Amino acid sequence: MSTDVKRITHLVGGAPWTGVAERTSKVYNPATGAVTGELDLASSATVDEVVKVAHEASRGWAQTSVSKRTQVLFAYRELVNQRKEQIAALITAEHGKVLSDALGEVTRGLEVIEFACGIPHLLKGGFSEGVSTKVDVYSIRQPLGVCAVISPFNFPAMVPMWFVPIAVACGNSVVIKPSEKDPSAANAMAELWKEAGLPDGVVNVLHGDKEAVDRLLEHPDIKSVSFVGSTPIAKYVYETGTKHGKRVQALGGAKNHMVVLPDADLDLAADAAVNAGFGSAGERCMAISALVAVEPIADDLVDRIKQRMGTLKTGDGTRGCDMGPLVTGPHRDKVVGYVEAGVTEGAELTVDGRETEIEGGADGFWLGPTLFDKVTPEMSIYTDEIFGPVLSVVRVASYDAALDLINSNQYGNGTAIFTNDGGAARRFQNEVEVGMVGINVPIPVPMAYYSFGGWKNSLFGDTHAHGTEGVHFFTRGKVVTSRWLDPSHGGLNLGFPTHD
Ligand code: NAD
Repeated sequence: MSTDVKRITHLVGGAPWTGVAERTSKVYNPATGAVTGELDLASSATVDEVVKVAHEASRGWAQTSVSKRTQVLFAYRELVNQRKEQIAALITAEHGKVLSDALGEVTRGLEVIEFACGIPHLLKGGFSEGVSTKVDVYSIRQPLGVCAVISPFNFPAMVPMWFVPIAVACGNSVVIKPSEKDPSAANAMAELWKEAGLPDGVVNVLHGDKEAVDRLLEHPDIKSVSFVGSTPIAKYVYETGTKHGKRVQALGGAKNHMVVLPDADLDLAADAAVNAGFGSAGERCMAISALVAVEPIADDLVDRIKQRMGTLKTGDGTRGCDMGPLVTGPHRDKVVGYVEAGVTEGAELTVDGRETEIEGGADGFWLGPTLFDKVTPEMSIYTDEIFGPVLSVVRVASYDAALDLINSNQYGNGTAIFTNDGGAARRFQNEVEVGMVGINVPIPVPMAYYSFGGWKNSLFGDTHAHGTEGVHFFTRGKVVTSRWLDPSHGGLNLGFPTHD
């Protein structure tokens, strides 16, 4: 291993793992194409080792008072806030997104930590006094034990943060299995828990691929699985995890549509389409990839988008560009394959990202912003999740046709409508079969105190991430029915002194 290539390993019981990995994988800087890390991939035996540590830590943590847990959460929030620039730099170095996007993702993660700081209020149960003679009923919520979090490459800090602070605040321990493409941010964020006063072993990071995930899915001491990634793997994780008796929330892929009605502010819509289509090189589960232009505005809207695309700078995320590279060489090649397919299938290639001038290393994984017009629903650039900087304009004749398109799509993660007609917007929010809806907002990511999740093939399970649904996911409800007879009234003689 060259000295420029760092070893990245699991974080177990508050310290780096000291074993020797049987398998490793390479981590790249996507802006240069250089190998920067060698990542240990866990075997099933290593998974067992890490889960054992987490399981042992979970007992003590579950019994730690809510006040003490809250103090740790507040301290953790401060530490992440202080180190957010360093964490953002790690994200840019391995994912490629520009620094401002990386910082934005850490900020969204911080919001979930802040939400979890309110756990004393969130864990309050109900109490009914005197439901029968001397009988009271009350509800409590208790931790599950060890929770697994399996995350994708595209938000290496934020997605783990959707789950980890809430799971910890609820009294669980956690094993995080980050994407093997950009693993360092998860380690950096997990290390801060120790500094915040969290007992060792409550938060652990386990690196690996299918072998590690499969063992987590069947391990008897893993009680829940929170997964985020592509739809086929989300479905597999949901089916396998639930078959082994775990509660599972598995968030999958997306094809997000943005509808522009003829009365919309077209400058606002064009700005939104460019930001939501090409931000983070389109590698966002809430990116807009299908722009549905309701005629007669399509020509005008496409012109405005094209004009704005001309001002975007694509290049190294550390150099003040608007858009960075794709995450890996194979992923870039796959996205370029879709551009070729779009041309073959007859869509109009309005802006060709293969010709974009790049401000970055010659061996980086580049593709500039790409715009297709006159895309039709049977083309692969419309049916498939491309997960790159490719925006497809579909022209339709009416609101109803736009709605039909969205509701017949297999995905239902996010969507947006641009209009100045409140009645049309209200109808859309009611009729559209999608989990997160924006009105003149292209990327409607819910705040941490609401819950994040899609419909249809964008989510398997019934609990969305964070918000009160997150608290419910990471706790089990218990209802106590109690009868206490009054010793002074001839009930039980427990030897209490009487005062009458
Ligand atoms: P991915 O499905 O390839 O990987 C996700 C996780 O699953 C990783 O930790 C990976 O190691 C693991 N994994 C991969 N193949 C596996 C297999 N065969 N068996 C078991 N585990 C496996 O996803 P990705 O490429 O890292 O991320 C991009 C995808 O994630 C896109 O589809 C995107 O839409 C989706 N995503 C969805 C949301 C959401 O909220 N719905 C958020 C972010 C990303």
